Amino acid sequence: MICVSIGRTRHKMVALEHRALAEKDAQLVEYRLDWLSHMPDVGRLLKHAPTPVVATCRRQSDKGRWRHSEEQRLNILRQAIAAGVDYVDLEDDVAQKIPRYGSTKRIVSHHNFDETPEHLQEIHDRLAACDPDYVKLVTMANSPRDTIRMLKLVEEAQVPTIGFCMGELGTVSRILCGKYGAPFTYATFSRERELAPGQLSFEEMHDTYRYDSIKPTTQVFGVLGDPIAHSYSPLIHNAAFAAADVDAVYLPLRVPKDALTDTLDAYDWLDIAGYSVTIPHKQGVLAKADRSDDSVKDIGAANTLFRRKQGVWHATNTDYEAALAGIHLGLKERNASDDSLSGKKILMLGAGGVARAIGMGVVRAGAALTIANRTKERAVELAEQLGCQHIGWENRGSVLADVIVNCTPIGMHPHVDESPFEQNWLRDGMVVFDTVYNPENTLFIKQAREHECFTVTGIEMFVRQAAAQFEIFTGQPAPLDVMRDALRKGISALR
Ligand code: NAP
Repeated sequence: MICVSIGRTRHKMVALEHRALAEKDAQLVEYRLDWLSHMPDVGRLLKHAPTPVVATCRRQSDKGRWRHSEEQRLNILRQAIAAGVDYVDLEDDVAQKIPRYGSTKRIVSHHNFDETPEHLQEIHDRLAACDPDYVKLVTMANSPRDTIRMLKLVEEAQVPTIGFCMGELGTVSRILCGKYGAPFTYATFSRERELAPGQLSFEEMHDTYRYDSIKPTTQVFGVLGDPIAHSYSPLIHNAAFAAADVDAVYLPLRVPKDALTDTLDAYDWLDIAGYSVTIPHKQGVLAKADRSDDSVKDIGAANTLFRRKQGVWHATNTDYEAALAGIHLGLKERNASDDSLSGKKILMLGAGGVARAIGMGVVRAGAALTIANRTKERAVELAEQLGCQHIGWENRGSVLADVIVNCTPIGMHPHVDESPFEQNWLRDGMVVFDTVYNPENTLFIKQAREHECFTVTGIEMFVRQAAAQFEIFTGQPAPLDVMRDALRKGISALR
């Protein structure tokens, strides 16, 4: 179950938000009474409450907003119990002062906003001795190991325990605590209403991560990267799991560049069978792989790490296949009977990681590749490695190519008025592939359409690399349309 925290300054707004949440299928809410600007009237709030309620009133020392005396705070909590609130949250140091009464369930809680102390079990034992129905233990994760220690504690606890970590490194535990036995997790009303660091919104927890369907058997997957909070991968992989009815969840895993090995070792406990890998770990992750595909060896980077049997990790690169599939789509649209790359003239803009993967693919397929890059040295270096041509960035308009591929971020949100290629350099009938996917219709793509070029957007590449991962992870065909729709929705929602 997901408990949604409501922190508003007016009683009326608490009631309104509660109704809105109940309409969206929320089953439990927490009233943060310390947020109310007037003295809380719990009886009034509970009168028309459409779902069960947790009454919580946090002191400022616990990062709450309570401005009155401690005596008044304890009275408010007693009043909530007398009014028959379903659950009351009592901090461990006051739990003994407020006796059990009626049918109200007692959540005895402890928060640590700085760290996840080593003596977590001792803290838990202390809370368990305060007559709880539920123990709630929330700490700050400063490492992936902290998150795993917390989940282990939840799994082993004798008293039902709501245990998770705050901060971006703790998000994993907010989503997975139910898998290990926590009776509920917490979420916010909306993304903008974060009441504690790293909290997810009800919508994300309910719709994206499908928290209520996560159970002990649920297989865990995730994306390793830094930053990762705005990655679209969780959105599209979880949508695919839901559509294909796969008992799995896919998590955003923030991993700082120098913490990859420690993180993967810590996450072994979660029995993760597959990772997507993004910047800055595409090279670093190779050290973890027992086996690598030829594509990975050639490109020197992987975007997928998976294992079929315990202990043997495979690295592969689905970006490469996805980009080639995108180019073939464009060529096929141009001439249904000839989507072959052999002998085609390709102009590639950029010489970074994506350019290296795509360049390798098209050269192998027999295309005549020319690279143009802002920094000449990088173009020269890549062209030497791939055995292809290069030209100056300023001369890119002079190449009469069958296919132009943009592997630079030019045109990416918010710089949507920029294009890597001038409109008057385009020729009718060219295939134009822009790897930028946010927005889907970049200025480059729009101008190419005006010239009757055959266009392929970055969405196609992004969805296809994720679809190939889905097939590796599950052994099932990927629901490509579902994944494409989820990505489009995600991109438009974040504008
Ligand atoms: P990267 O390794 O950082 O390379 C970036 C390339 O873009 C470099 O060649 C860089 O030139 C060039 N560049 C950057 N800003 C430029 C500017 N203002 N003017 C001219 N050239 C510029 O990045 P990457 O990993 O290859 O990713 C490149 C792009 O691919 C991303 O921005 C993203 O939009 C796209 N992408 C798409 C997908 C997908 O699935 N559709 C997946 C990954 C990436 P210098 O050498 O001069 O710095």
